[in-house]
Amino acid sequence: MRKPILIANWKMNGSLHANQALLVRMLAKLRPFRKAVDLAICPPFPYLFQVRDLLGYTGIALGAQNASSATSGAHTGEVSATMLQEMGCRYVLVGHSERRSLYHESNADVAARFRQVRSAGMTPVLCVGETLEEREQGQAMAAIESQVQAVIDETGVTGLEGSIIAYEPVWAIGTGRTATPEQVSDTHRALRQFLESHYPGMGEAIRIVYGGSVKAGNAAELFQSPEVDGGLIGDASLQADEFSDIGTALA
Ligand code: PGA
Repeated sequence: MRKPILIANWKMNGSLHANQALLVRMLAKLRPFRKAVDLAICPPFPYLFQVRDLLGYTGIALGAQNASSATSGAHTGEVSATMLQEMGCRYVLVGHSERRSLYHESNADVAARFRQVRSAGMTPVLCVGETLEEREQGQAMAAIESQVQAVIDETGVTGLEGSIIAYEPVWAIGTGRTATPEQVSDTHRALRQFLESHYPGMGEAIRIVYGGSVKAGNAAELFQSPEVDGGLIGDASLQADEFSDIGTALA
């Protein structure tokens, strides 16, 4: 049985004031289904401390949006996995499509970041997904498999054990356009088969969530397939009511 998980990716949004207001309302709204659904909030780095304090003992986990592929030293502007672990993070996103496209993180780079998150004892949330061009050329699964394969090459297939994969078609992120429930279900199933072919049992065990323009209005439909174990939510995670309504679709 895979427990559903809902992860908020605040991206580069927020302020001390706005975070406080958002979380106070969100925590009240999320209370009813906290047991049925794992919940995590990934704020920008400077707010980790604030969000950790506000989350307190609610059981809602703290997450970060990226971690360095290096452990320490001359890497100006980077944040190491051990620092995030020390801050109380339980989850770390790696390979978000914005990191891959805007900051040129390669598959190998993402895999190295994944390994650091693992080594620091946190759960990596490996984001994968195809571009529109790749989908139109029938290359969606090939693109996704190469993103996952890079991690397998880095850590061995057992490195994926206990991690989470977020399937986020690049063309659906922040665009208001979502994959159809069939596309989501088919892709998650194909990904499970790919993992299963590497390591029997892995395909069934791993949690795969969907991300890309999930809203309260489309969540039930997108999450209806048993292949989908939850969501990675960008825009809609900045509104307490919208985010908690997405959660009720999973509970
Ligand atoms: P979105 O973002 O929900 O705004 O499309 C999802 C993500 O980037 O994780």
